[in-house]
Amino acid sequence: MTWARLLKHVFDLDVERCDCGGNLKLIAVIEQPEVIEKILKHMGLDPQPPPRDKARRMDLFGAD
Ligand SMILES: [Zn+2]
Repeated sequence: MTWARLLKHVFDLDVERCDCGGNLKLIAVIEQPEVIEKILKHMGLDPQPPPRDKARRMDLFGAD
């Protein structure tokens, strides 16, 4: 199974299909944080990720 299929299976995220219905083709995967930051800054985008939300407690088993 390709990683693209894994993303589709686990997150329902189709990285091979555009919102317009066309096909997308990945030409590179950039993993180095310093390179990602450089590209985002060049595009005028904030390189810092949004703040994380606080962890929430979930009662999975119910308390009765
Ligand atoms: Zn498109």
